[in-house]
Amino acid sequence: MSASNWGGPNSSAEENYPLPLLRLLLKEMIGQFGAQGACMALHDKTNGQMKVQVHMRLASVQPPTEVALLDLDQASQRQDTPNRRKTVQLDAEEQETQHMASVNASLRARPQNLPDDRIIDVTADQCGLFMVGSTYAPGQDLIGRTWHKNEVYAMRHEDYMALIRNNKASVPHMDVSPAYYMSVPLRESTLMDELQGHPHPPAVLGVVVLYFMASSTLNLQRLRVEVLPYAERMVLHLRNETLRIQNESLRLKQRRTSDYLQLLQGISSVFPTSVQLSDLVEHIYQFAARVVDVSGMLLTLYDRDLDRLYDVFALQAGQRVEGLVEKPVVRLKSERPVWWHEAQHEKRALLFSPAQDREKMQQYQELLTGSWGDQREALSFLLLPMKMFNRVVGTICLTSMEPDAYPPEEIQVLETMAQIVTVSIENTKLYERDRAILNDARQREAQLAAINSALQSISSVLNVTELLNNLVESVALIAKVDMCVFFEPSAANEELVAHALYAPSSVKMVDDGSGMPVIIPPNKGEQDKIISMIRLPFKGTFLEHMVDEGFFYLDAPKLEELAHESNEGGVIFLRETGVENMLMVPVSYQAVFIGFLAVPTPNGNRSFRPKDVGTVLAICAQATSAIRNAHLFEQREEAYARLERMDKLKDEFLVTASHELRTPLTAISGYASQLKRQSARATPQTVLRFATRISVAAQQLSDLVANITEAAQIGPGDRKMDLHMEAIQVLAATEMALNMISHHSEHMISLDIDRDIWINGDAPRVRQVLTNLIENATKYSPPGTQVQVTTTSMLLSDVEALLTEDQVDPTLLIDHEDIPVVVVRVKDQGEGILPQDQQKIFEKFVRAPRSLTTPVRGSGLGLYICRRFVEAMGGKLWLEQSVANEGSIFSFYLPQVASPVEAVDYR
Ligand code: ADP
Repeated sequence: MSASNWGGPNSSAEENYPLPLLRLLLKEMIGQFGAQGACMALHDKTNGQMKVQVHMRLASVQPPTEVALLDLDQASQRQDTPNRRKTVQLDAEEQETQHMASVNASLRARPQNLPDDRIIDVTADQCGLFMVGSTYAPGQDLIGRTWHKNEVYAMRHEDYMALIRNNKASVPHMDVSPAYYMSVPLRESTLMDELQGHPHPPAVLGVVVLYFMASSTLNLQRLRVEVLPYAERMVLHLRNETLRIQNESLRLKQRRTSDYLQLLQGISSVFPTSVQLSDLVEHIYQFAARVVDVSGMLLTLYDRDLDRLYDVFALQAGQRVEGLVEKPVVRLKSERPVWWHEAQHEKRALLFSPAQDREKMQQYQELLTGSWGDQREALSFLLLPMKMFNRVVGTICLTSMEPDAYPPEEIQVLETMAQIVTVSIENTKLYERDRAILNDARQREAQLAAINSALQSISSVLNVTELLNNLVESVALIAKVDMCVFFEPSAANEELVAHALYAPSSVKMVDDGSGMPVIIPPNKGEQDKIISMIRLPFKGTFLEHMVDEGFFYLDAPKLEELAHESNEGGVIFLRETGVENMLMVPVSYQAVFIGFLAVPTPNGNRSFRPKDVGTVLAICAQATSAIRNAHLFEQREEAYARLERMDKLKDEFLVTASHELRTPLTAISGYASQLKRQSARATPQTVLRFATRISVAAQQLSDLVANITEAAQIGPGDRKMDLHMEAIQVLAATEMALNMISHHSEHMISLDIDRDIWINGDAPRVRQVLTNLIENATKYSPPGTQVQVTTTSMLLSDVEALLTEDQVDPTLLIDHEDIPVVVVRVKDQGEGILPQDQQKIFEKFVRAPRSLTTPVRGSGLGLYICRRFVEAMGGKLWLEQSVANEGSIFSFYLPQVASPVEAVDYR
C-alpha cells in the first residue's frame, strides 16, 4: 500500500485495518489451508456486529452447471431431511469421527495453489452468501456463532443450509455450492496475559470462514490443529502491519508537516516585511501551489474603511489574470451577497466539488465565476476565509481539476497560511496607514505652504483685477483643477460677469472676427475684455438666492438652465469647456455680495473632497477682505483722480471763468467809464450805443453766472428737474434758438426740419439745447462754413444703433416702450474733436485742449448742461460723429408727439 493512498479515497472504511492488508492475509490463508474460497468479517464498532469485509475465492472455481446445481440441491434436501431436528452444532469429536476418512484423503490430495491460480473478489451479484457488507449479530448464523462461542466450527454444506432455514432466514442465492465450511474466530493472543498469570477471555476481532468445494480432500484434523494458531498469528500480523502502516503514515505526515512548517516559516518571514501587495499575492499563490493542486485561484480582500471588495489576484486555468494587483476589480458587497455571507457569517472553510455536486454549484455560482473566469466545471473547490480575530478581511478560493484535491490536512496547512497572510496584510495596512498619515502630514504642510503663498499673492495686491487673477490661479493650483473663474455682479446686478479666469490650456474667449468667441490658449495681458464676454444670468435666477450659502454645486441640469439664458460667452463657457459640475463659493463682505468663485470639478466628479472645499473656502475668506480692500483702494484712487481732475478743472475754470467774466466786465466797465467821461458831450445815439454794449455784456455775464449756477445744481442722473413738458414744434424752436445766437451770420445755417415734427419737451430747455449746439457749431468752425440742422423720425429701437458706447443703455427698451422719437442733428464743418476728448467734453468745465488755445470763449459747461436737460426730458444727447478738421455731428432725441390740430390749423 502506498502512503499516498493512506487516508485517501481508496482506503477502507475500517481505518484500523487497511483493506489491502486484509485481502493479502485472507489470500494467504486460502492458500495455506487449501480452501477454494473464504470471507473475513470484522467487528464493526459502529453497530456492534460482525461485518463481512472481504470475500474471495480461487478464479478456477467454476459455478456448477444447471444440472449439477439441481443435483446438489436435491442431494442437500435428501440429506437434510433426516437431520432436520438434529442440532447442527458440531463439536470437535463429532466432526473428527464423521470426517476422519476424508480428512486423511484430503491430506494426501491437498490441492496445490498454482502460480496462475488467481484469487478474485466475489461480488454480491455473484453470491449472496458472505456478501461484502453483510452483518451478523452475536450467535447469528455461522459467523455469529463462531464469534459468540469463540470456537472453530466445521460444517457441511447441508448442515449450514439447514441452520439457515432453522433460523427462518431465506437461503441466499449462490453461484457455487461448497461442500464444507470452516469458521475460525480471529482472537487476540492471550499469551502475555497468560504468562502474567491473569487470564482474560480473549477478545474476538473477527471471523474467517473458509470453504472447500470437495469434502473428500479435507484433512480436518490438521485444519483444526493449525487453523486457530494460524488465526492468532494472523491477528498479530494484522495488528503489527496496521501499526506499521499507521506509523509509516504518521512518519510521512510528520515529514510533510515539518516540510509545511518550514514553508510556513518561510512565508511568515516574507510577509510582514513585504509591503508590496503584488509580492504578497505571488507568495500566497506559490505556497498554495506547493501544498495542493491549484488550477484556479482568487484572492479577494475586503476594505472596511471603504467598504469595498477587491479581487487582487486571480488564476484561471493555471494562467495569471494580468494587471489585477495594479488595478483590482472593485465590487460593492451588495454585488457579492454569497461571498459576503460566506465570509462574514459562515467564516469557515467551504469545500465541495462543483462538477460533481450540481446543487452546491448552483448555490455558490457567484463564488465560482468572476475575475477568475468560470470555475463551475472544477472537480474541487475550496474557500478559505482570512480571519483577523473574528473579522474576515478576505478569502482565498482555490479550484482543481482533480477530484478530492484538498484533503483535510492540507486544508489545515492552507488555513495556517491564510492566518499568517491575514496578519501580514493587516500589518501592511497599518504600515501603509502610518505612511499615509505621514504623507498626509507632508501634503498638508505643502498645502499650507501653497495656501500661504496664495494668500500672500492675494493680500499683497491692491489692484482688483490682478488680485482676482491671483485668486483664481491659486485656487486652481491648490484644488488641482484646470479652470477657475471669478464672477462679479454687473452694475445693475442683472448679470454675473467674469472678471478673472484661470484656464491654462483649455479655454479663453476671443472674438476671432467670426462673431463667435472661440477657445484659444490664454494670453495674459489682453484678457480683461475677452473674459468679460463670459456672462451668466443672475437677477431672477436661483443664483440670486444662493449668495448667502457657504458654498454649493451646480450640476449638469442647473448649468444647462443657466446656459439657456446666458450670452454667447456664457454659453461657450458652460457648454463647450467640459464643465459638468461646478463648485460655487459666494463671496460677500459684510453682507455686501462681491461675487462668485466658480471652480469646475475635475474629470466630471460630482464634488470636491471636503478637505479641498475647506481649503478653497479658507482662501476665499482671506480673499474677501483683500478684494474689499482692493475695491476700496481703487475707489479711493478713483476719487483721488477725480479730485485731482476736479482741481485741475477748477484751475482751468478759474482761468476760463476769469477770462469769460473779465471780457464782459471789461466791456461793461470800459463803456461805462467812457459814458461817464463823455457824459457832457455825448450824443443820445452814442449813449444808446454804449448802453446797448453794456447791456449785452451784462447779459453775457448773467448768462454765464446762470450757467454756472445751473451746472452746480444739476447732477448726473438727476431727472427731477422742474419741467413743464409740452408738445414743441421743432422747427419753431430751432428758429427761436437761432435768433438768440449773435454771430450766426458768419455761417451758412440751413434747417431741414419738417413743419409737422413735434416733440415732447420743456420749451425753454429744448431751446437752450438747440442754441448751445448751434452756437458750438459756429464757434468751433471757420466762418463761411455750413451748419445743418436736420430731424429724423424713427423708433426708439432704431436709435440704439446710432448711440455711442457711453450712451448705450441696455435698459432703454426695458424701461420704455418702443416709442417713436425724433432725432435732431446739428452738423458742422469745423475743427472736430479728437477721439480721446469725445467723451470728456460732456463733463463739467471740460473744454477740448485745442479749444483752449483758440480765442473762442467758453466755460466747458454747455454740453454738460444740455445732456442733463435732454436726459431729464427722457432723451439722450451724444456726439454721433466727429472727424478732426472735417466736422462733427451732435445729436439728441426726444419722444415724438403728434402735431396738435389747432396749431396746424391756425398757423
Ligand atoms: P464751451 O463751448 O463753453 O467750451 P461746451 O460744453 O459747450 O463748452 O463744449 C465743451 C467743449 O467741446 C468745447 O470747449 C469744445 O472744445 C468742444 N466742442 C463743443 N462743440 C464743438 C463743435 N461743434 N466742434 C468742435 N468742438 C466742439
